[in-house]
Amino acid sequence: MAIPQSTIALVYDYDQTLSPRYMQDDVLFPEFGINPESFWEKCNVLVKEKKWDGELAYLKCLLDYLAMDGVSNDRLQELGANLSFFPGLPEMFEEIEDLCLTDLHKAAGIKVEHYIVSSGLKALVDGSRLAKHFKKIYGCEFGEDENGVISFPKRAISHTTKTQFLFRINKGLLEYGEDVNDHMPEGVRPVPFQNMVYVGDGPTDVPCFTVMQKNGGHAIAVYNPEDDTNRSFDKCFQMCAHANRVKHIAPADYRRGSHLRLILEKMVREMADNILSKRQDEVDSGKVSAPQF
Ligand SMILES: [Mg+2]
Repeated sequence: MAIPQSTIALVYDYDQTLSPRYMQDDVLFPEFGINPESFWEKCNVLVKEKKWDGELAYLKCLLDYLAMDGVSNDRLQELGANLSFFPGLPEMFEEIEDLCLTDLHKAAGIKVEHYIVSSGLKALVDGSRLAKHFKKIYGCEFGEDENGVISFPKRAISHTTKTQFLFRINKGLLEYGEDVNDHMPEGVRPVPFQNMVYVGDGPTDVPCFTVMQKNGGHAIAVYNPEDDTNRSFDKCFQMCAHANRVKHIAPADYRRGSHLRLILEKMVREMADNILSKRQDEVDSGKVSAPQF
């Protein structure tokens, strides 16, 4: 028996998508007096010369720098309070549902949920002003030793493993104890890909863009309009114009009336209308006896 598929999920990458700065540069390096150039250079040596995975390399370098200071996950979370975002955030997360959903949509149980899937540090985002708007935040995590000091990567999310979380949202299996590989017929998945939007900024989002595209979902690549080097725009343009990874690119400006907001709002309205008309079709064809709300 089908279930009411009435949730719209907006899924975001974090670094360069919701924030113009990498979260480490934004709040960690200044706090601990870490020189960003030498930090990233150390990571690059591990990745390029010693063939480490990029995420494990940066987690190791962070541990090397931070363990001395006895840093805990709680401390990371406190530092997250100072994270900065692109214009229009976090307001957009509050506004979009009311702006896009009519009383009819709401009466039908349609709602908008927000998710973050990041290769950055979950603890920092958990402590940020964004956190309360999210149904779930996925990111890399540290385990702590017996003294409560971060001591080892507990979870590393790479750009390829990020796609797992799209399926978790799709299947409603949000907790790590739930096996995302369990078979689940399309009709009982709480958030069909058609009701999902993925917003990312670059090549590390390509696996997620591809999953969205293959499964009928929606994707938007955003760029930093204040990047004078144009590198940010160029990578989006490449993905849209040449690699056919995304249909839409827009400046990362989340304020009302911006190009990005117009695209997001239009997508949410269309998805909400589609949910309603699909439900009506099901009722008309006798597939379901009554809407379940
Ligand atoms: Mg990013």
